[in-house]
Amino acid sequence: MTTTHPEFVNVNGTAYRWPKQPVAAVCIDGGDPAYLARYLGDGSIPNIARFVTQGFSAVADGTMPSFTCPNNMSIITGTPASKHGISGNFYLDTSTWQPVVMTGPELLRGDTILSRFAAAGARVVSITAKDKLRKQLGKDLDLSKGNISFSSEFASRCTLKENGIENVLELVGMPQPDMYSMELSLLVLEAGIRLLEREPADLIYLSLTDWVQHKYAPGESEARRFYREIDARFGRLEALGAVVALIADHGMNDKSDAAGKPNVIWLQDILDAKFGKGDVKVICPITDAFVAHHGALGGFVRVWCRGKATPRQIIETIAAIDGVEQVLDKANVCRLHDLPADREGDVAVIARADVCIGASAADHDLSGLEGHRLRTHGGVSEAKVPFIVSRPLNEAYRMKAASATLKSYQLFDFALNGTA
Ligand SMILES: [Zn+2]
Repeated sequence: MTTTHPEFVNVNGTAYRWPKQPVAAVCIDGGDPAYLARYLGDGSIPNIARFVTQGFSAVADGTMPSFTCPNNMSIITGTPASKHGISGNFYLDTSTWQPVVMTGPELLRGDTILSRFAAAGARVVSITAKDKLRKQLGKDLDLSKGNISFSSEFASRCTLKENGIENVLELVGMPQPDMYSMELSLLVLEAGIRLLEREPADLIYLSLTDWVQHKYAPGESEARRFYREIDARFGRLEALGAVVALIADHGMNDKSDAAGKPNVIWLQDILDAKFGKGDVKVICPITDAFVAHHGALGGFVRVWCRGKATPRQIIETIAAIDGVEQVLDKANVCRLHDLPADREGDVAVIARADVCIGASAADHDLSGLEGHRLRTHGGVSEAKVPFIVSRPLNEAYRMKAASATLKSYQLFDFALNGTA
């Protein structure tokens, strides 16, 4: 720990107060407010219940589209997607017509709160479940000075040079978890706790994975078991003196019919039939390398015009499809949802809460869903997230919270500047 430090650190236009005690911010991936409402009601999560009573709790607006990467970047930059530029997992490069994965740190605009504090001498820890987020979370983070950035996906292979830490599995006393397991998230929290026990840290960012929420509804016992496990670890973080700040990247909704079959709009197939094959290109920005639990189906897709069909014609066609909640041209989706225009398609399509949108039925592998209802996210109906700080707010931030709907990107502002 450094002995002298600035009182405030400026990041992307906001001044953040130097923390007096460690701040541990946790992104409960897919942590729809419905899970907390249920478990707060039945006594399953006593530590979170205490935070809600003694500290601050609200439901905030997440970033649209309600996907993992855009929301994690909003939280760690303190800015909306229009500023940080990460508006999905993929966008389409119109010079090559190839989808471009948006997980590279060079695509993230502006600074992260983590890297600016580290540069000012703070000790920073960033841990994520899936490695796809690690490089953006660790953008410009100097790992040679005791700062740490790793994923539980690659916990067994961490090196001092790449991650600022090694022997993570020994540290947490866990075997390498499976990609599709709740242990992948529990390792993130366990490592945060062990590191805080080992030596003081100023900022800790812990980002979980939504495998549990994709698979289990709030009423299912496995989801409750997961929340009991994470709740116990939040209690341990607090007992170590940390201010615990909880957020989610997005919610989660059931998108299957009464028989358990997914309600899917196969948009590429519909548009191919109307305008001719290949005239327009549908991109599903939820897609990543691990799709077994959602089949790359989400509540938000983008359409790019490649041929003769105009955005207006496409919008007219899509507006008539049952299950579509919003269909917007580029200017309107950017204005309404605070998105960066240079990574937006010609038309954006947002599904109703009980419906999801795919490209072409032939291109989505739904075999991983067998035996389970499809639960996924991406739309406006999954953009409400819990926003909880374990300590009471000061007067100014109580006023700020009461005066407007909170945005999830204000989490560090509230945790650092808003606690008494
Ligand atoms: Zn997520």
